[in-house]
Amino acid sequence: MDPFDNHSTERANLPRNMIENSMFEEEPDVVDLAKDSSAFPTFPALDPDEAVYEPRSSRLLVRGLGENDLDEDEEDCESSARLLGMSFMNRSSAHRSNSSPYTRQAPPRSCPRPSARTMVVCVLFLVIVCSMTMVLYFLPGCTFTRTGCRKPNKTSPMETIFPLSTSGELFPWVEYRLPHSISPLSYDLTLNPNLNNMTFTGRSVINMSVLHNTKRIVLHSANLNITKATFKLGDEAARDVTVLEYKPRQQIAVNFPEELKAGQYCVLTLDYSANLSHTYDGFYNSSYTDKDGKKRVLAATQFEPLYARKAFPCFDEPSFKATFLIKISRKPDYMTLSNMPKAKTTQLPNGLMEDEFERTTFNMSTYLVAFIVGDFTSISQNVSDTLVSVYSVPEKKEHTDYALDAGVKLLEFYNNFCEINYPFKKLDLVAIPDFLAGAMENWGLITFRETSLLVGKQSSPLEKQVVASVIAHELAHQWFGNLVTMRWWNDLWLNEGFATYMQYYSLQTVLPNLEIGNLFLAVRFRALDKDALNSSHAVSTEVNSPSQVEEMFDSVSYEKGASILLMLNASLPGEHQFRKGIIQYLKQFSGSNADTNDLWNSLTEVEVSPQHQNVSEMMRSWTSQKGFPLVTVSRQGDQVTLTQEHFLLTSDYATHTSSLWNIPVTYVNDNCSVAPECRQVFNLMTKSGTFKMAESVKWLKINYRNTGFYIVHYGDEGWTALGDALSENVNVLTPEDRASLIHNIFALSRLGRVSFLQVNNLLNYISNETDTSPVTEALLQLSNIYQLLCKRQEHSLVARMKNYIMHHFGSLMEKQTWGEEESVSNQELRSVLLETACHLKEGNCAQQAKALFKSYVESNGTLRIPGDLQQAVFNVAAQSNEDWETLRDLYSHVTFDAEKRKMLRGLASTQDAWRIVWILHAGLKGDVIQTQELPLVISTVCSGFTGYLFVWDFIQENWDSLIEKFPVGSFAIQSIIKSATSQFSTQAHLDQVTSFFSGLKERGSQMRSVQEALETIRLNQRWMDKNLVVLQNWL
Ligand SMILES: [Zn+2]
Repeated sequence: MDPFDNHSTERANLPRNMIENSMFEEEPDVVDLAKDSSAFPTFPALDPDEAVYEPRSSRLLVRGLGENDLDEDEEDCESSARLLGMSFMNRSSAHRSNSSPYTRQAPPRSCPRPSARTMVVCVLFLVIVCSMTMVLYFLPGCTFTRTGCRKPNKTSPMETIFPLSTSGELFPWVEYRLPHSISPLSYDLTLNPNLNNMTFTGRSVINMSVLHNTKRIVLHSANLNITKATFKLGDEAARDVTVLEYKPRQQIAVNFPEELKAGQYCVLTLDYSANLSHTYDGFYNSSYTDKDGKKRVLAATQFEPLYARKAFPCFDEPSFKATFLIKISRKPDYMTLSNMPKAKTTQLPNGLMEDEFERTTFNMSTYLVAFIVGDFTSISQNVSDTLVSVYSVPEKKEHTDYALDAGVKLLEFYNNFCEINYPFKKLDLVAIPDFLAGAMENWGLITFRETSLLVGKQSSPLEKQVVASVIAHELAHQWFGNLVTMRWWNDLWLNEGFATYMQYYSLQTVLPNLEIGNLFLAVRFRALDKDALNSSHAVSTEVNSPSQVEEMFDSVSYEKGASILLMLNASLPGEHQFRKGIIQYLKQFSGSNADTNDLWNSLTEVEVSPQHQNVSEMMRSWTSQKGFPLVTVSRQGDQVTLTQEHFLLTSDYATHTSSLWNIPVTYVNDNCSVAPECRQVFNLMTKSGTFKMAESVKWLKINYRNTGFYIVHYGDEGWTALGDALSENVNVLTPEDRASLIHNIFALSRLGRVSFLQVNNLLNYISNETDTSPVTEALLQLSNIYQLLCKRQEHSLVARMKNYIMHHFGSLMEKQTWGEEESVSNQELRSVLLETACHLKEGNCAQQAKALFKSYVESNGTLRIPGDLQQAVFNVAAQSNEDWETLRDLYSHVTFDAEKRKMLRGLASTQDAWRIVWILHAGLKGDVIQTQELPLVISTVCSGFTGYLFVWDFIQENWDSLIEKFPVGSFAIQSIIKSATSQFSTQAHLDQVTSFFSGLKERGSQMRSVQEALETIRLNQRWMDKNLVVLQNWL
C-alpha cells in the first residue's frame, strides 16, 4: 500500500508500546509486571483491560481447557512450563516486590566479627543465590529478555483465561493471532451489495484442512451479522453449527464435541449480512458528483491491513493464503471488477446480474482480495500475456493515457528484472473517487486515489512523476508482497521497503526523464530525521494489536526499509549480485510467506566474493535495532579513525545506547571526489576503526552520494576544510554529497554537537549553489527554523531570518522564470524557490503570481498555469478576500485532480481565522471537501501562524470524530498528530499535549506518534533554549 496521499517527503513515524499488549497475551500476571515495572516506561500507562479485554470481573478462569487442542509447538511450550515447576507468578512477583532478594538483601560489606545472626543471614543469602542460579540455569534463555519466551498462538492450559463471547458462552481462544491447527485452502465468496440502502449480504464457503487435532475453528469477522452456519467434515452430510463471537478481537469460533483430526478436510459455510462501511476500509461505499451535478455511488474495498474481515468471515492474517472464487451481483447498468478476469455473467431472477470471476491461480493473502461495483470506463493495452487496463469514472477517461503508458513499461521492466512474469492474465489500475491511501496493490486490481493515477496530456513532468512513482510502487508489490508475502506484520518492511526501493530503482531505468533521484534522496533524509528519535522502532518489530499493526505503516517500514536496501545494493560488488539474490528470494518463496532472515539468507547464498562481508551479519544490525549510527571522523598524521555511536536526539528513556552497526562506510577525498571510481570502502563493524590516508589529503567526504543510512561528523577541522573547498568550487563534490553535508550539519546542530555558527560557515558557500537537492535541503532546514521562530512570535528574529534566507537565495530566486519548464529537476527547484519567495513576500513574486492567477481566471480554463507554479500562485491568491472566494469556486468545479489539490492547499493557506475554521470543519464533514483530504488540510493550515493554534483546538474538540474516520494508529492519524504538534516549543504546549493524550486512554494514548510528538516538542524546546541567544547575537 502507499498510505501517503501525496509525495511530499513529510512523513510521520512513531513510538513503540507493544510490550504491555504482547505480554498481556501470555498471562494476566505478566500484565501486572508490565504495569508495575518502571523498566519499560511508556506514555501513558496503558490499561490492558480497556485496550483489549473485558473487565476482569467478567472473566472466568478455566483450568485445563484446551489441553487436547494444542499444536505441536504449543505442547513444547506447555511441557517446558511444567518442567520449570514454577510459573510466571513467581517471576512477576519477584519483579513486582521491592523486597525481592535481588534488591534488598545486599551482602554485608564486611564480616569482621560475624555474629550468629549475620551467619544465618549469610547462609540464607547463599542458599537463595544458589537456588536462583539453578532456576536461571534451567530456565530457557529467553525468560528474562524484554520480549520473554514468546511463542505465537500459545495457550498455557493451566492458567488460560477464556473471555466470554457475545452469547455468554466461553470463547475458546485468547490471542490476537489465530491458532494454526486449521488452514484455509479456498474461499467461494458470493456478495450481494445494495447501493440503494448501502447494505450487503454474503456467503463465504471456506474449504479447510486440519493440520493438528483440534476441537475448534477460530477465524476473523468484524461487524458481520452471521445468519446461518453449516459445517461439513469430509464426506459427511453438512450440519448446522453455532458460531461464537468475541467482538474485541474481531474473532468468531465454532466448537466441536469431537476432535477434528489432522489430515481431515472440512467446509464451513457462513451466510451473513452487513452495512457497507462508511469509513475507508472494508467493503465501503463511495460517491462522487458527475459533470451533470448528479450524485453517483459505488462500492469498493480496502482490506490492508485488517479489514477483509469486515467484508467476509476469513482467516485474516497474511500467512493464511488460499485461493478465491468471487461472485458479485449488480444492477444491469453497473459493472464489477475483482482480482481475476470475469468468467461469466448470469441473469438472476430478481432482475440483477451476477458476475463470476475466475478462481485465483495463486494462493493469496486475504488483505489482497478486492472487488468494486460502480460505473467506470477503461483503456487497455496488452503486454506479454497480460491485458493492462486503466479505469476511471467516465468523465475522466482522457486523463488515463499516461498511467497506461507508464504501467505497461513498468510491467515489462518488472517481468524482466524479477525473471518471473506477472502471473495473471489481466492487471487493472482503477482510480477511485473517494480513497484514503495513495494506492493499494490488490493482486490484479490495483486501486488508486484519483490524484495518484490520473494526469492530463498537458500535465507537467513533475505531476507525471507523482503518478509514475505510485504505479511503480504498486506494480513492485505484485512480486514483493503479493507473490512473496511477509509472514506477519512485524516484517511489513519486506513488502513496503522493497516496493519503495523498487519504485525509485525502476523509474531510474524505465523513465529516466522523471529524474526521480532528488526525491529519493530527500526521502532518505526524512527517514533519518524520524529514526533519530528515541520513539522510533526497529525495522522488524513485534506487533500484535490492530493499532500496532496500523502503526507499522510508517517511514521506518517504507523509507528506512528502502534506504537500507539501497545501502546494501551499493555496497555489493557488481551491479548484478543484489538482483541475483532478489531473484533467488522471489523464486524460493513464490506463492508463500517469508521473514527478514529468509531474505538475508537468500542474499547471502549468492554471495561470490569471500573478502566481502556477510550480508546476513551486516543487515541484521540494521533491521533488528532501531536508529542508525553517527560516524565521527578524526585524523592524526596519516591515520583516519572512525568511531560509531547511536545517533539519538533525545536520551529520555533510552534503551539502545550501546548499539553497534555493521557499516559499509564509503569515502572520497580531494584527489578524486566525484566519479564513481573515486569511491573507497571501509567496513566499520566495531566501535571504532582506522585506515591510512596520505597526510597531504586536505579533506575527506564520507558516505559517497549519501547511499549509506548514517550521519557523519567531521570535527571542527574537517567541517572547515569541506566548507572552504565548497566555497572555492561547488563542483568538487556531487550534488548528493553537498546535500548530504547540509542535512548532516543541521542534524548535528539539533543533536547539540555543532553550533549554529558552524552551520552558517558551511552555508556560506550556498550562494553559488544552483543544484536542486542542496538548495531544497538547505531551504527546508532554514524554513523549519523560520517556522519555529514565527510560532514563538520572535518577530525581530523572524525578520532577520528572512533577510538571511534572501541573502543566500535571493539571486537564485530572481533568476527563476514563470513560463513552461521541461526539466523535472528545474521544476522542483523553481517551485521551492518561488513558493518560499512568495511566502516571504519578496520582490515581484507576489505580483507575478497575482497576474498569472488573474489571466488564468479570465481565460475561462483555456490558459494553464505551469504545474510546478500552481501552488505558489494559488497560495498568493488565497491571501486576498476576493481571490480566495474565486479559488473556492474554481475548487468546486475543476475536474483535474492534481490542480484541484493544489487549490485546496491554497485555500487552506489563508490567514483568515473564519476561513480556517470553515475549511477545517468542511474537511471533517466531507461534502464540499472530501474527508480523505483532511490530513492535507490540517498540515497546510498548521504551516500558517493563525492556523496552527486553531488546529490544536480543533483536534482536541473533534478527536472522537477523527478516530471514527481514520483508525487509531493509521497513517492519517499519525500525520494529523504530527502536523498539529511538531511546531510547539514551549513547556506550556508540552503540558497541554501531554495532558490531552494521556486522557485518551484506549482512544489513542498508546500510539507511537504521541511519543514522537512529545519528544519533538522537547527537542524544539531544547533547541530554542540553546540557540535563541546565539541567533539574537549573530543573525
Ligand atoms: Zn506499498
